[in-house]
Amino acid sequence: MSRKRKYVYLFGERTEGNAGMRDLLGGKGANLAEMSLMGLPVPPGFTITTEVCREYYSKGKYPPGLEEQIKEAMREIEKQLGRRFGDPDNPLLVSVRSGAPVSMPGMMDTILNLGMNDEVVRGLSKLIGERAAWDSYRRLLSMFGNVVLGIPHEEFEKVLSKKRDEENVEFDHQLSTSSLKELVNEYKELIKSKLLRNPPSSGIVANRIKEREIVEFPQNPWEQLLLAIDAVISSWNNPRAVEYRKEERISDKLCTAVNIQAMVFGNTEGGGTGVCFTRNVETGEKELYGEFLPNAQGEDVVAGVRTPLPIKEMEKMFPDIYRELLEIGEKLEKHYRDVQDFEFTIDGSLRKLFILQTRTAKRTPRAAVKIAVDMAKEGLISKEEAIMRVEPDQIDKLLHPRIDESKELRVIAKGIPASPGAASGIVVFDPDRAEELREKGEEVILVRPETSADDVHGIKSSVGVLTAKGGRTSHAAVVTRGWGIPCVVGCEEMRIDDKGKYFETESGVIVKEGERITIDGTTGNVILGKAPMLPPEITPEMKELLGWATEISELEVRANADTPEDARKAREFGAKGIGLCRTEHMFFGEGRIERMRKVIMAMNEKERRKALRELMFYQIEDFKKIFNEMEGLPVTIRLLDPPLHEFLPNPQELLEKVILLKIHKDFPSIREELMNRKEYRGIIEEILSRESEIMEEYERVKTLEEKNPMMGFRGCRLGIAYPEIFEMQVEAIMRAACSLKKEGREVYPEIMVPLTMHESEMKILRELIEEVAERVMREEGVRVHYTIGTMIETPRAAIVGDKLAEYSDFFSFGTNDLTQMTMALSRDDYGPIITQYLEKEILEEDPFFTLDLEGVGELIKICVEKSKGKVKIGVCGEHGGDPRSIRFFHEIGVDYVSCSPYRVPVAILSGARSTLESKRR
Ligand code: PEP
Ligand code: MG
Repeated sequence: MSRKRKYVYLFGERTEGNAGMRDLLGGKGANLAEMSLMGLPVPPGFTITTEVCREYYSKGKYPPGLEEQIKEAMREIEKQLGRRFGDPDNPLLVSVRSGAPVSMPGMMDTILNLGMNDEVVRGLSKLIGERAAWDSYRRLLSMFGNVVLGIPHEEFEKVLSKKRDEENVEFDHQLSTSSLKELVNEYKELIKSKLLRNPPSSGIVANRIKEREIVEFPQNPWEQLLLAIDAVISSWNNPRAVEYRKEERISDKLCTAVNIQAMVFGNTEGGGTGVCFTRNVETGEKELYGEFLPNAQGEDVVAGVRTPLPIKEMEKMFPDIYRELLEIGEKLEKHYRDVQDFEFTIDGSLRKLFILQTRTAKRTPRAAVKIAVDMAKEGLISKEEAIMRVEPDQIDKLLHPRIDESKELRVIAKGIPASPGAASGIVVFDPDRAEELREKGEEVILVRPETSADDVHGIKSSVGVLTAKGGRTSHAAVVTRGWGIPCVVGCEEMRIDDKGKYFETESGVIVKEGERITIDGTTGNVILGKAPMLPPEITPEMKELLGWATEISELEVRANADTPEDARKAREFGAKGIGLCRTEHMFFGEGRIERMRKVIMAMNEKERRKALRELMFYQIEDFKKIFNEMEGLPVTIRLLDPPLHEFLPNPQELLEKVILLKIHKDFPSIREELMNRKEYRGIIEEILSRESEIMEEYERVKTLEEKNPMMGFRGCRLGIAYPEIFEMQVEAIMRAACSLKKEGREVYPEIMVPLTMHESEMKILRELIEEVAERVMREEGVRVHYTIGTMIETPRAAIVGDKLAEYSDFFSFGTNDLTQMTMALSRDDYGPIITQYLEKEILEEDPFFTLDLEGVGELIKICVEKSKGKVKIGVCGEHGGDPRSIRFFHEIGVDYVSCSPYRVPVAILSGARSTLESKRR
């Protein structure tokens, strides 16, 4: 014969569950059982398993025998407490509370004081006092009416507030017993009229009401209890809970358990209820933290009608109970080995403290870090556990100024979050103007359709950048991330006026130059005005945690840094070298972009060599400074990779100048008119003085302009066509390295070739690099250890990794370009596409942020398999700073990741977590 299935588990004096049974008993039920086992003062009760809820939803009815098991469990509780459910002389009241395997705070329902009726209230008066008994009755009626019968809470509230006015009191606990008695009658009337006019028409509750022919508040305690259980089980599928599960990606199949527990009465003289955290969940300090409401039941704390008192106040009011609370807090924390958030009630009639629930406490990022580190130092958890307790995103939040979300904000548009952190400043549309205002001490937000090398001085002068176009690896995104400047890109809801005087959002808000906005590079929000901010918090605990993570991680973390300042920042954050120095970014500074342009625009080798010589001086000095900052660590320098559209003069502006020249020459009458207008005279005079230069530039830009610059004349193609460019760069790298070496410093240059697709490219360029490097070392009279490698940025390069490895000492995956080339998604223009694709759930993630594992990831895997052991392997695209992508890189055997300096701590923690996870498997 098959054994009877068990649907009900006791807790209290007899306990049948434990903390490990979350799936079956829900979090609340499992913890009530565990606390009972620990000997804590938990009112006894029982848990109906999640299986019952699951069975109800799959078969449309409860499993047979359930009601019997509930009755049996109730008899056990009655025995333990010496009271009886429904007994008018010695009544037992119970609460019915939901509790899923994962916490869904406030999403499902609870009903207190069940088992009450017109007789019981009299018996209960003798036990807990008349006022408290009638108060419990009116509470039951309003909760039952709302949760079980669906009468809006406001209808009960209306009656209640009228009663307060009549008695001229501010709060419910000040109402007299006679008012409470009147309230009970009025509530009963309200319920009756609702059941008459508008009874629940569908669902479990409606069926039972019909079956039992219920027409008013049921006086039968068992009827109340069964209906309450029905209601809690239905609440698993209320719209609020369904929405929450969708948001939090919680499976609908988990279902809720139902906890039935003996009531204790906080709504008594000398009683109260509260919520307590074993540590301060705002700061992480080791102190009891929480709130307390005297003479109240649980729902009063949540309803927020009365302001609760800080838990510390209890020390004066109830010194003994406060001490007990401290002891229980300590016990709970030791037992669960984590900060607990627990609910308690003091029953005034018994003068006794009860614990009603405990769960792992939610905490701020700052507290999460401090608590993890402190607990490891206290010996409560290991360092490894401390690392697993902090999410990389929490670290990221601490590294940047954040918007205080508790305050009201006016969000006027949303774009793609590209560089984390928030910034507030006045809107400026022109990079020169940004620089000018910065010099006057203003904080500005640069707003552009998109950015290019021409805008870099403006970006540098701004506290934040907002662009209408572009994605997470567009120019603006990459540059700002490197500098830790908050940035929102691809804000398609914003239209910038042609003259750059204002922008208008889809909802019709117009923001003019000089007006203040706030951008949030973590969420993509654009907010009108100055939003309240929280500062970054790089605490000693964070440094300590990152130190442990570095020791544990199998994955090395380097930084993408193009300047000595970035290199210093990266080292401070714990980077073990530079994984990508984008040399074209080194020409962003004043006076350099023009020289760089001369190299690109040169008509012949002689001109180019001349322009290059001028640049070499800067390069040597820059490399020396970077090597100096990174002494003893590897520095990967990528040879020039300038997508031409980012560096050429703006063709539109050039065309406008050419048109003006033409008008000036060929249309004398218009010329006269223009010269008479002040705003044009200056411009035309300036153009005339540079006429031949402008015409030459225009012609050259026309020939250089490409339809598809990201697949055009860039990367190693440039070095193959104009070897003198790479020769100059290699010479500069080696001269700088030799000069430091001669001073006795340790330098490890790694020279990296961009955008290869064929081993022949690498063969030619390796020879070129070796030849120059050997010559320089000979001339300098010193040897430096250097290596040569390539970026893997094209699908073909990934597939022929074994061949490229023959000419490479290392590979670094440029996952930005590799994603662009593999998915045929333009890094600069994919904004509107990705918005649609995410909305329609074609893609789950932005592939420029979290690696597309199935496609791009597969290519990387193939390449690693073909080249592992032959070359050192790294990643330097933006994915090198994304926790989920990092996990993948570590799993497939990548040796290091490189990301922007401000992302280094996130990558360190992610690498360590991935290492620990793989050891667990
Ligand atoms: C890449 O393509 O991933 C990369 C790092 O290079 P860049 O972003 O400079 O093209
Ligand atoms: Mg690239």
